[in-house]
Amino acid sequence: MKIIKHEIPEKLITEDGIRTDGRKPHELRPTKLEVGILKRADGSAYIEQGKNKIMVAVYGPRELHPRHLAIPDRALLRCFYRMASFSVQERKSPAPSRREIELSKVIREALEPAIFLERFPKTAIDVFIEVLQADGGTRCASITTAALALADAGIPMRDLVSAVAVGKVDGHIVLDINDLEDKYGEGDMPTAIMPRKKEVTLIQLDGRWTPEEFKQGFELAIKGCEQIYQLQREALKRRYLEIREQAAKEMEERAENP
Ligand code: UDP
Repeated sequence: MKIIKHEIPEKLITEDGIRTDGRKPHELRPTKLEVGILKRADGSAYIEQGKNKIMVAVYGPRELHPRHLAIPDRALLRCFYRMASFSVQERKSPAPSRREIELSKVIREALEPAIFLERFPKTAIDVFIEVLQADGGTRCASITTAALALADAGIPMRDLVSAVAVGKVDGHIVLDINDLEDKYGEGDMPTAIMPRKKEVTLIQLDGRWTPEEFKQGFELAIKGCEQIYQLQREALKRRYLEIREQAAKEMEERAENP
């Protein structure tokens, strides 16, 4: 039987500034975004960011059950962040954990400012986040993907939301931390922004940072979010072109077989 053990590296960054996964300090992990992957959902999206694999489905605005939760002047945004039992090295219990409840709240608060909730009073917008494989920074990857799924659902938005976590690792400020850097680094700072409005919708801070390190970290996080935003735009454009092609094909078929 093969038992895979978590290897704790002696150093998280070499003297040449190379990280455990071969990246330079200010580099994002290879990131792939896809929009419109689930037929049944109103909107959906998928991300692979390094070894992270996360799927998001959006339903709504729709009738809200139980009704007493309805808000008279706006929609209720509900986020459900779930980690599959097999998504991490040590099996996660399928029961909802405190961490999942907390991350669901953090993700909801990061997305809320971007949505015109006031246009859909008394309804619910439900965002289901399924982490299939986790490798650090999943709350940020979830926010990035959920924003795309909301846009895919046609929900009116002020802006997208783009997120990434920076960290302090062996004294270096690094972009987009992986699981090892998250676990054995000195601190992390998950950040989300509305990129066009230039507003921060999430910032958390863990570990000890000097004011100078915080400044550097924050600036790097904003740059990282802007790169993520470009990838989101490209993913939405690909989806739009796909829909347009599909519609043209359907029209052609109808014209041929009236
Ligand atoms: N993690 C894990 N087991 C768990 C929860 C998390 O191995 O039960 C790992 C997973 O890779 C996750 C990382 O720890 O991405 C960091 O988790 P954290 O709570 O800091 O949230 P995240 O960085 O994913 O937003």
